[in-house]
Amino acid sequence: MSDVRNVIIIGSGPAGYTAALYTARASLKPLVFEGAVTAGGALMNTTDVENFPGFRDGIMGPDLMDNMRAQAERFGAELIPDDVVAVDLSEEIKTVTDSAGTVHRAKAVIVTTGSQHRKLGLPREDELSGRGVSWCATCDGFFFKDQDIAVIGGGDTAMEEATFLSRFAKSVTVVHRRDTLRASKAMQERAFADPKISFVWDSEIAEIHGEGKLSGLTLRNVKTGETSELPVTGLFIAIGHDPRTELFKGQLELDDEGYLKVDAPSTRTNLTGVFAAGDVVDHTYRQAITAAGTGCSAALDAERFLAHLS
Ligand code: FAD
Repeated sequence: MSDVRNVIIIGSGPAGYTAALYTARASLKPLVFEGAVTAGGALMNTTDVENFPGFRDGIMGPDLMDNMRAQAERFGAELIPDDVVAVDLSEEIKTVTDSAGTVHRAKAVIVTTGSQHRKLGLPREDELSGRGVSWCATCDGFFFKDQDIAVIGGGDTAMEEATFLSRFAKSVTVVHRRDTLRASKAMQERAFADPKISFVWDSEIAEIHGEGKLSGLTLRNVKTGETSELPVTGLFIAIGHDPRTELFKGQLELDDEGYLKVDAPSTRTNLTGVFAAGDVVDHTYRQAITAAGTGCSAALDAERFLAHLS
């Protein structure tokens, strides 16, 4: 059994590394589980990040995350590229088990496990991510000025992305597998009223095309089986996100969509000494800067909690 740490951080995106930086600079010697496969989080899978303040000319996603990692390490954060496979957060001393079965103990835990955007599951999808295929209009819309774009999905997020993108794009085609939208009436009306947005109903994407860069899509009508080509240079996939909260079910309170619930504006969860930050909590903003911001809040909340213990 290990010594009792002050704080363990689970997750290594902008939220986790920022929490690590702050708790390390507060001399709390945080232990950070970065994840085995995706240490660095969602931005490891993208190219240019142009909206993280402080980088006038933008920065590549993996470079930004390497910098955050090194900055946390510089102040003494201990980083382990491994997955947490079990937790027990209910007692005063919390336990976190790694993939080798080693149990780590801490007085406070910060959860920053992020959320996974749902994928279409098509062959070229990952290869063309950041090269025309995107999951975030706020992040990438600007790169598609005067281009033809497709948005896939029929909910509020898809309509929001489509109306946002129509500011930049030459055209936006919404592809939806049903003949009605799930989005709220207000969002639908806004999209229907936008002259740049058109709809392809009852259809799904059968194939993604492009060599090094997206060049078009093959669509399939789910009722007739007919296929058609849609030449686009941008594809925004808006079919939902899955917060990574499996580990915490039955311990931490989740909302209807599986996100961790916190006592906002604090980052306190329903369990004393457990804090959560970043996209695992956030339905709304899902940005690197907001994740980093709440990571900072979680570190300060944990720091104050630990100060009251001693
Ligand atoms: P994440 O970055 O998702 O990190 C979560 C971390 O938790 C991962 O490292 C994962 O390995 C780890 N983890 C999960 N489970 C476990 C476990 N059991 N044990 C250990 N570790 C675990 N935002 C912008 O502001 N600008 C952009 O340009 C931009 N571009 C994007 C491009 C793409 C392709 C994507 C997918 C997202 C983009 N975003 C962008 C959104 C941004 O990446 C996220 O909002 C941000 O990364 C969320 O940070 P996070 O720390 O909450 O979670």
